[in-house]
Amino acid sequence: MITTSASNLIPVDLHCHSTNSDGALNVIQLLDLVKSNGGKYIALTDHDTVDGINEAKEYASKIDLCFIPGVEISVTWDKNNLVHIVGLNVDHTNKNLINNLNNLRDHRLNRGLKIAEKLAKVGIPNALEGAMQFCSNPKALSRTHFNRFLVQNGYAKPGKAFEKFLAHGKPGYVDQKWASLEDAVSWIIQSGGVAVIAHPARYGFTRSKLIRLINDFKQAGGLGIEIISSSHSSDDIIHIAHIATTENLYGSIGSDFHNINESYKQILVGINPQIPDKCLSILDVLKINIENFN
Ligand code: AMP
Ligand code: MN
Ligand code: MN
Ligand code: MN
Repeated sequence: MITTSASNLIPVDLHCHSTNSDGALNVIQLLDLVKSNGGKYIALTDHDTVDGINEAKEYASKIDLCFIPGVEISVTWDKNNLVHIVGLNVDHTNKNLINNLNNLRDHRLNRGLKIAEKLAKVGIPNALEGAMQFCSNPKALSRTHFNRFLVQNGYAKPGKAFEKFLAHGKPGYVDQKWASLEDAVSWIIQSGGVAVIAHPARYGFTRSKLIRLINDFKQAGGLGIEIISSSHSSDDIIHIAHIATTENLYGSIGSDFHNINESYKQILVGINPQIPDKCLSILDVLKINIENFN
């Protein structure tokens, strides 16, 4: 049987966000927090951008963190399912990657306008201006920024804005066509990176639908799947670890940290539980040997 325990924390985090996308901390604040939490190996994986990578790489070396350049790409899979694909060890200067990510981000402000129009219809005025208060770059505008606006202004309780307004089928939801799965994986691979399915348990797919996603992902050249994620319960971890093993995918580890105190549970950026023993580990693909650093 595959088991896991919260006591085996390791100084690895291969998924987190800065103000370059929908994180609340800038790169310096984020990496300082990683350091003070005892982290060592950190990948910055902002949504659809590598804008923060240069600064993060430079600052990480100053404070003696091992930095892995990353990205989290928004994908529309199988007609209209939103799936996130993390790229690790990407070349953040790769023109093909940068241009394609920029094209994706160009739609964010326009979608934000439509979200605000829909929220206005249910009695919430000025949501675009409100969300932009939490967002430094219109190309980064995310539902997370609308979430912060809705909570701060009392339209939703903390942790409830998605289920009330922003999730699929709710009054503020706007459909968006993101990258295809094949394109996202190929941009990652062409820039020298490794592709990983982010937080698989969060999609609410049946087992057979998840296996179908995995087959398409492997067909495109994908190698990894997040087993450890703040979106995963301990049952999810066991379930995904089994699937990773049977599907020969490398297990990955990421907090998906966005903010301090935004979630109902505290997420520590920089340190995470190890994946279960029997699983293949993405750390081997990335040539990270944590034994050397204890
Ligand atoms: P977007 O890329 O603008 O569609 O926003 C997606 C982001 O919203 C994700 O990356 C998460 O950070 C956040 N998000 C999605 N679903 C939820 C949820 N149920 N609760 C809190 N945050 C969520
Ligand atoms: Mn996010
Ligand atoms: Mn995600
Ligand atoms: Mn994320």
